[in-house]
Parts: sequence; C-alpha cells; structure tokens
Amino acid sequence: MNYRDLGNTGLKVSEIGMGCEGFGENNCENAQLLFDTAEESGINYFDLYTSDPAIRASVGKALKGRRDKFIIQAHICSIWKNGQYKRTRDIEEVKAGFQELLALLQTDHIEVGMIHYVDSMKDWENIANGPVLQYVRDLKKAGVIRHIGMSSHNPRVALEAVRSGAIEVLMFSVNPCYDLQPASEDVEELWQEKNYEAPLVNMDPERQELYEVCQRMGVGITVMKAFGGGDLLDGALSPAGKALTVNQCLHYALTRPGVSTVLAGAHSVEQLKTSLAYEDAPDEEKDYALAFAAFPKISWKGHCMYCSHCAPCPKKIDVADVTKFLNLAKAQKEVPETVREHYEVLAHHAGECIQCGSCETRCPFGVPIMENMKAAKEIFGK
Ligand code: SF4
Ligand code: SF4
Repeated sequence: MNYRDLGNTGLKVSEIGMGCEGFGENNCENAQLLFDTAEESGINYFDLYTSDPAIRASVGKALKGRRDKFIIQAHICSIWKNGQYKRTRDIEEVKAGFQELLALLQTDHIEVGMIHYVDSMKDWENIANGPVLQYVRDLKKAGVIRHIGMSSHNPRVALEAVRSGAIEVLMFSVNPCYDLQPASEDVEELWQEKNYEAPLVNMDPERQELYEVCQRMGVGITVMKAFGGGDLLDGALSPAGKALTVNQCLHYALTRPGVSTVLAGAHSVEQLKTSLAYEDAPDEEKDYALAFAAFPKISWKGHCMYCSHCAPCPKKIDVADVTKFLNLAKAQKEVPETVREHYEVLAHHAGECIQCGSCETRCPFGVPIMENMKAAKEIFGK
C-alpha cells in the first residue's frame, strides 16, 4: 500500500481508503469483514458519512482492539432523526449528533471531523459565520477532533472554504465526468443527460483551480464518487458513453493535484479487493489516456491529464509531474515555495529535455510537451 500526506495535517493515509457504503450490508455484519480486509491490506483511512446508528455501532464494534490502526474521517451535521438521515445546521442537533457518533464509535476522538455536505454558498456562509464552525473549532481545541474537514460536490463553494483557511481536509467528488461540468448547487445536475449532449471540451476551470489551490495550500483531498456511483464502470450508464475500469477511475482521481486518498465505495469484501488490486496493477492497466481519447463527444485537446501515457522519456523526465508543477506555478504571479520545493526533488527536470519530440507522438491529447518543458525550465530555472 502506498501512503500519502493528508495535506498539511501530518497524517499519512493509505492512497486507497474505504467508503462506508458496505458497512450496513448483511445486518451490518459486513463491517467487521471489511475492516478485517482493510487492516490486512494496509488501508488506514475510512469515511463515515452515514448517521444510521446501527451502522455507526457496527463500525465501533469492528474497531474494537484496533482503533489505533485507523484514521477516522466522520461527519458532523449528519444526524439520525425520526428513523432517518438528516443533514442539519441546527447547533443543538449538531452537538447531540456528534456526541452520539463518538459514543457509538466507542472512541473519545476522531482524526478528521467533516462538516457534512456543503454545496451552496449561502450554506457555507451560514456555517462559516455561525455556530457550526465555532463548535467544530471548539472540538478541535479540545482535541476531540484533530483536524477540520468539509465535504462538498461544488467546486465554487469548496474553493471558498479552502481559501478561507478554515478547513484542512476536503472530501470532494472527483471523476472525469464530473470534472467536465461547471459548478452547481444541485449535485444531480452533474449526471444529467442533457449536460452531456453537446460536445464537452476540457476540465471545468474551477475544478482544476480547486485541485491546484488545495495542493498549494496543503489541504488534503479525500475523494468520493471516483466511480460515479458505479456508473462509470458501465458503458450503458456512463455519461461518457464508454466504460472505464476500476483501476482507470482510481488512477484518474489519484493523479489530480492535492488528492491524498480515494475512498473506494465497496459493498462487499470482493469489491474492496477489486480496488485494492490497484496497488499491484501494471501501469498499462491504470492508464486512462486511450480510454478517455475514445470517449465520444468529450475532448481534452491540448490539456494535460497527468496520465503519463507519453512515457518513457529518454532523459527519464516525468512529464506528468513536471507539467503538474508547471500548471501550479503558472496560476500564480510568483512560484509558491512549496511548489518549487516539490519540483526541486524530482529526479529529472525539464532542463534536461533534448526536445526529441517522442513524448508528443504518444500524447493522445495533443499537449505541446516540448513547449511546456521549455516553460518549466524558464520558471523553475532547471
Ligand atoms: S502530456 Fe499528454 S500523455 Fe503526457 S501526461 Fe499529459 S496528457 Fe498524458
Ligand atoms: S521531448 Fe523532452 S520530455 Fe519529451 S521525450 Fe524528448 S526529452 Fe523527454
């Protein structure tokens, strides 16, 4: 298992994390089996958005004796009322819901407290200027949560929250189809057929900016919806019109800037193992470039997707990484120190490029790689 920094939190998280979709299966007996598999395979990070007390209790039971092996990302503002899930900003409900969460998990703290599901700007403003953020900050001060997070599907709201400096971790929906769509306060919009009827070109700039700002500011992204709820794995259901594989979806999410872990949704141990197979998969199985290039009506022309399909370079330059740092630097007036430091430690730099052009013949998206290498040398000085 590969581990990554969760932004600037100091936590090292497994790049494959676990979603909570399957914990409730089989009268919640599945939770134990999923945690056994997670522990054996090195998964140390999971998300718990559900407020269902039976599921939360099953997680508490599954964690018994191994609490220290897992980093918990659990949601504040997700409560159980009248026998069903409710998203709330009522501070008394929020507090009671969080105390219940701790009791059911049989723990006195969680590592990442997620302010749950913030998709509208008005909602964020109310949270930021009201008692919810204050409560979450108090929890952090008391050590009951170690880091503050927020979950969202809306890049505009997420950017506002990240830029405010209030959050350290962002749970965000990342997949190649969502990434084409502009910001919306209604998550359903992201999957509607009408929004895929016209030809789509390149990533939504706000999403790209969000990932880059997270990387620059050290806000770790934990990914949800990497498989689009499973639809991206099925050609008939995918808005892209062609199926992707689990490895391609995972690799896409893990190659976005700022991403620390993908919370793989798994209803069974078998499904979790399918995601875990990513860790040992050969590069050809992870490579999503040709699959994307074959999508009807969707084009990423001239836009680097960080897919590494252009490798190998005779000078061993990692074109995807160099281009990622180039884009991070270009978006700023001055090169941020963290970006420069990350660039410096690359094994090979753009300045070593001999302009042979072989990478460009392999890039399915027509990226001007040789120009990019010159620009990176100019910006970084090597
Ligand atoms: S230059 Fe092209 S092939 Fe290389 S990482 Fe970027 S998109 Fe992929
Ligand atoms: S053009 Fe530069 S980056 Fe591309 S393969 Fe040749 S040496 Fe490597």
